[in-house]
Amino acid sequence: MPVRSVCVFCGASTGVNPAYREAAIALGQAIAQRGLTLVYGGGAVGLMGIVADAAMAAGGEVIGIIPQALKDAEVGHSGLTRLEVVDGMHARKARMAELSDAFVALPGGLGTLEELFEVWTWGQLGYHAKPLGLLDVNGFYSKLGSFLDHVVEEGFVRPQHRAMLRLADSPAELLDAMDSYQAPVLPKWVDKKPD
Ligand code: AMP
Repeated sequence: MPVRSVCVFCGASTGVNPAYREAAIALGQAIAQRGLTLVYGGGAVGLMGIVADAAMAAGGEVIGIIPQALKDAEVGHSGLTRLEVVDGMHARKARMAELSDAFVALPGGLGTLEELFEVWTWGQLGYHAKPLGLLDVNGFYSKLGSFLDHVVEEGFVRPQHRAMLRLADSPAELLDAMDSYQAPVLPKWVDKKPD
């Protein structure tokens, strides 16, 4: 399926290394320059605000989805193509997933990891066939990658489901990988034989 809109999960903080900000700018620009719509959490703080500003400045379309209760805390971005205010976190994630053809994560904290893992588990169960990937800025996600390999070795995740998550260290490589993605067709349950 051609990717026309990309959901970006990322920190509501900027992190200590300026490389994270630079990566957020590069990813926002790359999404806009490819004519893709950026879908994200709608905040103006942290890497969220930076990726959105970069995509808007590069002439892109940006849709933010923010829960009413977080609109003040995360400063709902007032300069987007569209800001949708929803009832809560679950509605936010469902709407972001509905509007997006692919999911990528920049560095971030618990919210970023939670959003990424939820959408990955939905793909593993076959609820969607959309690609997902990590922008591995300065090796930020390499330890997570090693841990996920360990989870496969220990028999809790199929290698094909592990392989659904692409790690790349440049926006171009990551977005190219999203375009060529083929979803695996396998049951989630490791002990169950594939039909
Ligand atoms: P963080 O990575 O913790 O800085 O959070 C990044 C974004 O994820 C912020 O917009 C948070 O509001 C959001 N977030 C945190 N927890 C959740 C959750 N359970 N469901 C959806 N979004 C969340």
